[in-house]
Amino acid sequence: MPGFTPGRRYQPPFMPFKRQPLKKRVLAKIELAVKGPLFGCRMCGNCLLQETAFICPMECPKGLRNGPCGGSMPEKCYVDESRPCIWYKIYERSFKLDREALLLEVLPPLDWEKAGTDAWSDVFVQAKKVGVKNIAAGLSSGKAGSVSKTMDSIFRPVRQPDWWQGDSLYHAPKYFEPASELERRLKAGEFVVTAEVTPPSSTDTEKLRQNIQMLKPHLAAINFTDNSSAVPRMSSWACSKIALDLGADAVMQVTGRDHTRVSLQSSVIGASALGVRNILCLTGDSTMLGPAPHGRMDIVDLDGIQILWILRRMRDEGKYLDGREIKVPPQYFLGAAASPFASNMKFQALREEKKVNAGAQFFQTNVIFDADAIDDWLNELAKRNVLDKVYILAGLTPLKSYKTALYMHKKIPGIHVPEKILKRMEAAREKGGEKEEGVKITLELIEKIKRKQVVHGLHLMAVGWEEIVPRIVRDALGFTAPSMLFGNDFQTKVY
Ligand code: SF4
Repeated sequence: MPGFTPGRRYQPPFMPFKRQPLKKRVLAKIELAVKGPLFGCRMCGNCLLQETAFICPMECPKGLRNGPCGGSMPEKCYVDESRPCIWYKIYERSFKLDREALLLEVLPPLDWEKAGTDAWSDVFVQAKKVGVKNIAAGLSSGKAGSVSKTMDSIFRPVRQPDWWQGDSLYHAPKYFEPASELERRLKAGEFVVTAEVTPPSSTDTEKLRQNIQMLKPHLAAINFTDNSSAVPRMSSWACSKIALDLGADAVMQVTGRDHTRVSLQSSVIGASALGVRNILCLTGDSTMLGPAPHGRMDIVDLDGIQILWILRRMRDEGKYLDGREIKVPPQYFLGAAASPFASNMKFQALREEKKVNAGAQFFQTNVIFDADAIDDWLNELAKRNVLDKVYILAGLTPLKSYKTALYMHKKIPGIHVPEKILKRMEAAREKGGEKEEGVKITLELIEKIKRKQVVHGLHLMAVGWEEIVPRIVRDALGFTAPSMLFGNDFQTKVY
């Protein structure tokens, strides 16, 4: 175990793709010999230790570079329970050392040409550009902030290449007319409902079409998951297109797990051209959760925050990641997942702020079973000044049985089912009527959530129980709004 990092397990360093000149190879060996034991360095060649409280994040089995996933816990990593969540450790140490502001900077995906090579040469080159005199003056001036400013002048250009230029600032969308029906209704101040539909696992779309027809009068938009739990199904964009053809607004989900930077950009250009106007950006569940044989598990080309950053710039700056101009840029309303009950609410709020800065315009939260406890998370968001920049849709799952409640509580990271609810479901199992009790609990939660001014709607995840959604919407909100039908007074433009 490396001395100065809480990482518990040795992981082999990356190898360079191409053979390097002798000088670079020697430098890489020295760098690994120093940074390996000190920081758990894996020689990604794109060093960001300055930003991560000097703990190498490359131990994360998802390869995340912008903070913890929604499954982060203090005790362990949800993907590999034999190790701690390295991102939890990074956040913990950053807050302790008063370095948490650094965690807000949106960091780029790996430049794989550099993996396995030394990062020091880049630092030397940049230090030379800044000049020895300036560095010495900055480090010895004694003025407040002078040391960090000097260090930043050396390290920032190294970790933020020209093709990325990430920062810690909020970037407001550069368009005014709503991109989608969902955005139009949120902007109009309506309390909206979205729901998730699991795509079919075959080419038969009959059930999918039935579900869309059944749900469409009750919802502002329908989400189609992108191979959730890493189990392959019909693609989210194909389902979204079917929904659009049937007159329902769709939320296409894209995961970093299933997209490389090339396929991501091509998919959103294609989806936008087909009329898809809402995109939910996710890192995605680990491949580990899916069926074997497993693909590479420790490398995700992009995380959810990087996806937001790329998609926002494609839309607002009309640029591909490589800087090429997009003549007719894609249009979409960008969303992200939020996880109020994962890890620590302070940590999560920081991560949520980072998502908003990167481009998230709406959040669909993980499943909530404690409507009072989310106030703490909302307060943390308020402290970070993000509540007026993002729409929040509270995630809810109607419980079908006590067994499901127990499973969600024990097995799904980021979900907390209070004892009270578990007891009610258990009692309902004994008396009979578990489903009815599950619906009752959901309606009670909605009643409380509706009263929270800063929550703008609901996101229902019925997981195969889609037929219950219309009843929940009717009983909870007392309406079925035909105006929600897509295409009445609002139509997206298809290029
Ligand atoms: S819990 Fe998530 S963020 Fe933490 S180490 Fe595991 S995969 Fe990475």
